[in-house]
Amino acid sequence: MFDVIVIGAGPAGMMAAGRSAESGNKTLLLEKTDSSGKKLLLSGNSRCNITSSCENVEDFLANFSDSGKFLRNAFSVFFNKELLRFFRKRGLDFKVEPGGKVFPITDKAGDVLRILVKYVKDSGCRILYRKEVSGIAKSGDIFEITAKDNSAYSAKKIILATGGLSYPMTGSTGFGFHIAKTLGHAVIKPKPGLTGIILKNNFLKEWQGVSFEDAKVGVYAGDKLIHAASGEMIFTHFGISGPVILHMSHIVYDALDSGKKVFLSVDFSPGLNHHELGLALREELKNNPSRKISNTLKEFIPSRLVKRFLESIPINPDKLLAHLSKEELKSVLEKLKGFRLAVEAVKPIEEAMVTCGGVSVKEIDPKTMESKIVKGLYFAGEVIDIDGRTGGYNLQAAFSTGWMAGGAQKD
Ligand SMILES: Cc1cc2nc3c(=O)[nH]c(=O)nc-3n(C[C@H](O)[C@H](O)[C@H](O)COP(=O)(O)OP(=O)(O)OC[C@H]3O[C@@H](n4cnc5c(N)ncnc54)[C@H](O)[C@@H]3O)c2cc1C
Repeated sequence: MFDVIVIGAGPAGMMAAGRSAESGNKTLLLEKTDSSGKKLLLSGNSRCNITSSCENVEDFLANFSDSGKFLRNAFSVFFNKELLRFFRKRGLDFKVEPGGKVFPITDKAGDVLRILVKYVKDSGCRILYRKEVSGIAKSGDIFEITAKDNSAYSAKKIILATGGLSYPMTGSTGFGFHIAKTLGHAVIKPKPGLTGIILKNNFLKEWQGVSFEDAKVGVYAGDKLIHAASGEMIFTHFGISGPVILHMSHIVYDALDSGKKVFLSVDFSPGLNHHELGLALREELKNNPSRKISNTLKEFIPSRLVKRFLESIPINPDKLLAHLSKEELKSVLEKLKGFRLAVEAVKPIEEAMVTCGGVSVKEIDPKTMESKIVKGLYFAGEVIDIDGRTGGYNLQAAFSTGWMAGGAQKD
């Protein structure tokens, strides 16, 4: 009989397990794969963007979807400063990169993982690998846990840290959602977050690799603008990606899910407003009337976009500026300020960086991570309905909730 069994050896589960064991609880950590932290090892392109340097809790919370406010309590106890101190104390230092992204100084996610695994082992917690938990039942005050290999364990308390549904090869296949539902919890429908957008346009191969440092992108559902944001984006073999796209993917997903036709409108010339861009084009026409429109456009958009851009109007790329009609000039201007890209779909959850949705925060005590429905059941990490933007927010949430759940086992 264990005091505490933690299910899932990701960042949330490891933090919870170590913390529980060092508080004197007989703790067991069960992991279904053959090693800990497989997703952690992939994080930040294997460099692990562990947190953000943002010092203000409220500003930090603004980088989560609405339910993220649930983290306020956890952050008041174990925030980025405390997280970095935890690792520094154990010999790993960090650096801050543009946008406040914090990485280990060694650029190795493996170094973060090594410290976590050592922390768990040093705390006296037992870890068992290849133990895929398949069932949890409560009889009286005791939880009975069964694994797929028919082994069984019992504990007074359980911490569920099984992650979400993204990157299932790392072990997170949604077990936590299933079991939470079985135990009476509401689970907000899981959907992909921080993922690329698949476009209908058939010229993508030609645009693949073209990137913008600061594109302005609008999301239209039907003909209504439902979201707009600016930032880095890149055309890919399937469509479009990059931070600004990743951050809007859940909005696009919801619009498609509600049956609407969705398109993105990309402003290729965000530095100039409509009027200024019109003046610049007319100036060009006046100064270089015998120049081909395709050559002029290369000064406004990357040259690889020009052919298809003109085709979409359509205008012959060899047409001289002097021969452009008023309507054609207007179309060029309008397309530069809002090029329409029809959306086919959002990349599937398996390829998403995070899962939006999960166990409803309304049914979890934010101070302890204990279920308000099943006494003795705790949650930590991505299994909870919390998702943040790129920039280290999701790992901080996993570590903070893990810390709180593990720490709540003191008494
Ligand atoms: C490619 C990629 C890059 C990312 N980069 C970053 C980044 O740089 N910064 C950032 O903040 N976030 C990043 N994220 C998100 C971040 O990695 C996750 O939010 C975080 O790992 C969630 O931690 P977790 O412990 O809750 O779940 P997970 O890391 O998913 O761990 C869950 C664990 O539970 C185990 N498990 C599941 N079911 C069972 C079961 N039935 N029995 C036993 N064990 C089970 C799994 O095998 C797994 O080990 C990235 C995600 C991806 C996919």
